[in-house]
Amino acid sequence: MKTAKFTFIALGLAAVLSGCSAQHSAKHEEAVVQNQAALGILWMQQSGEYQALAYQAFNAALSEFERSKAAKGKKKAVVVDLDETMMDNSPYAAWQVKNNMPFEAETWTQWVNARQTLAIPGAVEFANRVNAKGGTVFYVSNRRDDVERSATIEDMQKLGFPKVNDKTLLLKKQTSNKAERFKQITAQGYDIVVYVGDNLNDFGEATYRKSNRERRDFVAANRTRFGSKFILLPNPNYGDWEGGLHKDYYKGGAKNKLEIRKATLKAWDGK
Ligand SMILES: [Mg+2]
Repeated sequence: MKTAKFTFIALGLAAVLSGCSAQHSAKHEEAVVQNQAALGILWMQQSGEYQALAYQAFNAALSEFERSKAAKGKKKAVVVDLDETMMDNSPYAAWQVKNNMPFEAETWTQWVNARQTLAIPGAVEFANRVNAKGGTVFYVSNRRDDVERSATIEDMQKLGFPKVNDKTLLLKKQTSNKAERFKQITAQGYDIVVYVGDNLNDFGEATYRKSNRERRDFVAANRTRFGSKFILLPNPNYGDWEGGLHKDYYKGGAKNKLEIRKATLKAWDGK
């Protein structure tokens, strides 16, 4: 009886300990996932190279805007994404690294509502130049219309973005697929001559929820448009390309992500 009792206690203790260690290792794996982002975030925040690429993108976008003519009877428009295209959210990303926190809708909304979003170099000047030259900038973003709109408008105005209003600021209502919102713009008599984004999904729905192979095929098929109609800002930290790594990327926890990341690396065999 004594032995049975002892075995029962020992088994119980082992179960608790293994539960603790599973919890501990899940926490550790999440920390590794977040810390792998540190170098990319530092590059965006600190390197002159990142800033140069941002200026390069907006210089190209402005030349294309000036060069292009709207279709007959149409008004010239430019569509820009917000996050990591016009607006810099790297402090939220850095918070994730320092606190080993995954991206979550709730903390993201808290960040947006903290009203500390910064501007990407060249973005404010670009939007002002387009509007001054008779164009209209439409801000098409997947920030949430219901709980992130007023803070977004306040920050954009504070940063100096022009004409932020009900017509030009199109946030996410039902879907993150932007195609519907692009149609809304053209239905109002606009010809979108330039798209600026940090995600292929900012250029249309061809890449929406597609694998990286399909996303690369889209890029190859549209190779002559990059640097003119399609202007891309670099974002090594996040984007739909991450989920594009594997169809099950978001179906497991941090351990699953780390395994997929490692397995997907194309590596030299050392010989
Ligand atoms: Mg973006």
